[in-house]
Amino acid sequence: MSADTVNVNGKAKANNTYDAIVIGSGISGGWAAKELTGRGLKTIMLERGRNFEHLKDYKSAAKDPWEFEHRGSATQAERKERPVISRGWGAYEPIMDYWANEQDAPIY
Ligand SMILES: Cc1cc2nc3c(=O)[nH]c(=O)nc-3n(C[C@H](O)[C@H](O)[C@H](O)COP(=O)(O)OP(=O)(O)OC[C@H]3O[C@@H](n4cnc5c(N)ncnc54)[C@H](O)[C@@H]3O)c2cc1C
Repeated sequence: MSADTVNVNGKAKANNTYDAIVIGSGISGGWAAKELTGRGLKTIMLERGRNFEHLKDYKSAAKDPWEFEHRGSATQAERKERPVISRGWGAYEPIMDYWANEQDAPIY
């Protein structure tokens, strides 16, 4: 086989080798990545969730209570989808999108 037909990327291994891998970009992962990169370690962060843009994606943060369709309450349908969360403080309209649907991802 000639050199022309072999796809040799000599830098691939070096480019894809890391000192640290951080799984998840929440506050714990974010802080870990900050500390690791701050100490000069080559760090990669893997996140399974959707991209969440600071400020732009805070859909409810700047709204007044009367701007919510259900005046801040979770609907019966939302409570049914999230029965565990609905037992506590978390079932209110501004943040229902932030919880997993417990039918897809049972909590207990
Ligand atoms: C609606 C709501 C309101 C809250 N309000 C407050 C508040 O006002 N004040 C406060 O202090 N705390 C609040 N909290 C709690 C706070 O958000 C959590 O304590 C904090 O986010 C936990 O941080 P974490 O990094 O441990 O986990 P997370 O923030 O959950 O981060 C974990 C990350 O890892 C990713 N992940 C998981 N598994 C994988 C995988 N296998 N591969 C790749 N990525 C993966 C997830 O997608 C996620 O992004 C609130 C929580 C919720 C849900």
